[in-house]
Amino acid sequence: MAMAMETPPAPPRMAARLAVVDLLVRAGELALCGVPVLSWLARLPGGERATRILLPVAAALWLALALRLADSVRPIAALLAARAAQQACPDEAAQRALGRAPRESAMLHFLFWVALAATVTLTALVRGVGSPTEAAALATLAIVHAAGLGATRRLALERALEPLRSVVTPHLEGIRVLAGGYRAALMLTALAVLGLGHAVLALDALAFAGLGATHLAATSLALWPTLGLAGLLLARSLRRRAAPIESYFEAMLRTPGTRGPSRDEPRAVGAFRAAQALPYRMAAYQGLSLLLASIGAVVVGRRLFGVDVASAGRLLGAAALAVAASMLGEALLLRAALRPLMRHLGSRHVLPIGDVRAALGLGPKLVASFVGVAGLAAGVIGLGAGRPLGLPAVAALIVGLALAAGLALFVVREVVAPLRVLESRSEEMARGELARPVPPSGEADELGRLTAAFEEMRRSLRDRLRSTESINIDLEREVRRRTDALEQRNAELREALEKLRRAQDNLIRSEKLASMGRLVAGIAHEINNPVNAVINSLGPLEESVRRIGAAKDVSQAAELASAAEEMLAVIQRGAARTKAIVQALHNYSRGDESVQREVNLVRSIDDSLDLLRHRLRHVQVVKELDPAARLVIMGFPGQIDQVLMNLVTNAAQAIGERSGTIRVTGGVSDNGDVLVSVSDDGPGIAPEVLPRIFDPFFTTKDVGEGSGLGLSIVHGIIERHGGHIEVDSAPGRGTTFRIRFPRGKTPVRAASPGP
Ligand code: ADP
Repeated sequence: MAMAMETPPAPPRMAARLAVVDLLVRAGELALCGVPVLSWLARLPGGERATRILLPVAAALWLALALRLADSVRPIAALLAARAAQQACPDEAAQRALGRAPRESAMLHFLFWVALAATVTLTALVRGVGSPTEAAALATLAIVHAAGLGATRRLALERALEPLRSVVTPHLEGIRVLAGGYRAALMLTALAVLGLGHAVLALDALAFAGLGATHLAATSLALWPTLGLAGLLLARSLRRRAAPIESYFEAMLRTPGTRGPSRDEPRAVGAFRAAQALPYRMAAYQGLSLLLASIGAVVVGRRLFGVDVASAGRLLGAAALAVAASMLGEALLLRAALRPLMRHLGSRHVLPIGDVRAALGLGPKLVASFVGVAGLAAGVIGLGAGRPLGLPAVAALIVGLALAAGLALFVVREVVAPLRVLESRSEEMARGELARPVPPSGEADELGRLTAAFEEMRRSLRDRLRSTESINIDLEREVRRRTDALEQRNAELREALEKLRRAQDNLIRSEKLASMGRLVAGIAHEINNPVNAVINSLGPLEESVRRIGAAKDVSQAAELASAAEEMLAVIQRGAARTKAIVQALHNYSRGDESVQREVNLVRSIDDSLDLLRHRLRHVQVVKELDPAARLVIMGFPGQIDQVLMNLVTNAAQAIGERSGTIRVTGGVSDNGDVLVSVSDDGPGIAPEVLPRIFDPFFTTKDVGEGSGLGLSIVHGIIERHGGHIEVDSAPGRGTTFRIRFPRGKTPVRAASPGP
């Protein structure tokens, strides 16, 4: 079933087509080979008897060849029947038969006629009828005609079987078939035309030169040298001229593993040009050889058979007509044989028209054809008149021919001129020039309609192009509009971002101010202690100093001095502590910086712990700072202080009034990043709260205790410093915040100047 669906359906009436072809070629054989041989048979002494014996045998044999042809195409018929019945059937026999049947049939018929001619000739020679020259001439005639008819038979049968090829060998590409057989097809065509040309020549000689059959056969002897020459020239021309085609096929098919030449393969151009020129060149050689044969026949006729000048002239005229006809026919047949190749080349490759332009335009070809046909007709009629032409008749003939040529020129111009216009307009259209209309060519015949269709095509192409252009313009405008809108949105977004950043900076500042406000009470208390110590020590110190001055002895003075020193030490400690607190406060309250500097994290940690000391009374603070590590980053010190203050404050608030431990660590990772962590052993953070702690305004603390901004600000600052913060906490396990600042200098966005 699948097989039947894959293959194309068999063409109908194949047997009938084959039978018709066979019959037609058979009729030709009878006329061109049978008649000369039989006429000789009749000339033999006792010819009637010989005819009686030989004729039925030959006829039986000849008809048996028809049965042989039917037999050799039987595998194809079997395959077609199997396909029609949708049964599986091996293809090989049918494939072989497709190639073999025409070849074998042509060869058997050729051999049959040669054998018959040889038998008759030999019998004649043995019986002493006719001269050896005449016998050889008869054989020549039969061989040439049989060869021409054999070639015709093979070509005609192949043509008739051609539609079956796609059924029998569906997977064989057409181009492979062409590559395998085009040269044989060309040579066979040449041979067929040669045989038929010679037959026409012979008929001319019989009809116009008054030569008898014997004479005619003898003149055919002149054919051999010209045949040899023609064969040589044809084979050489075919080999040389077809070389570009062969090299193309080589690249296309015979190089394994490649997908064939590309679309702009230069060999395709060469092959196309060769295929275009080949028919004319081969036809010219063929014509030359037939012309030589005709001259040879005339010379032989004059010398051997005393043909008079008038007859010889008429024979030469008739021969010229035969040559012209055969050249025309051969060129047409060879063009048809090469057309599939040219079609393939044109569809498979880009052929620059300038490179493959035919040497001969349509005009000269048509004029030559018209004049040739008119000349042939006139010649045949003239020769058929049967008497030598007088001067007036010759003049009339020349005038007639000139008129015919003029008319032909006129007609051809009518055809070619509109085609030229179409050609030049299509070249312009290919360049994109669609504005100029195609002028109408006149009547609404095929050419007129073609021109009109062309104009229609130009108009619709132009309209489409215009609409495409207008769509493009609209699109461009839309794109430009959207781009502008996007740019505007971008500018707005940039502005909004800037505003946001400013708001964030303000938020950081406000939060800092608020936390400083909260700090102030504690710090005031913190400063109060050392200041009190100083103040309380100053009175006793003054007293001691006075008493030293009034001391009576040295030991009392020394005692007083030592007490004074102690008090001085207390004052110094108090002053130093006050200074440290004020310095830390100063550092922390430092305004906005616009230039990043080195930030010493050890100092930041110390300052933060110092400022928060009043909150950490019942807390054990453990500092684990790697002494070998350089805990320095690039950034804004005030902001880094704020981070640490917030984290330590949160830790202290988490521990609350209980006793607990806050651990601050500092170190450097393997890849040089600076690591800081703040952990506490407070209650930890509940899992449902954890994801929200960095959100702005998220707090679990009472009003006044927390604003919910601390961690969000911490996050913002660390991000600005190119760092990263993560939290590790669970209820009952305490909380650890880990910060990682990238090693080396990190570009940090400058904080906007304060209001
Ligand atoms: P605030 O401290 O003003 O509430 P934060 O943004 O600093 O605002 O903190 C948000 C919330 O994160 C806090 O309310 C608290 O619930 C939780 N939190 C922060 N640090 C800790 C910590 N060390 N231990 C337990 N919870 C904490």
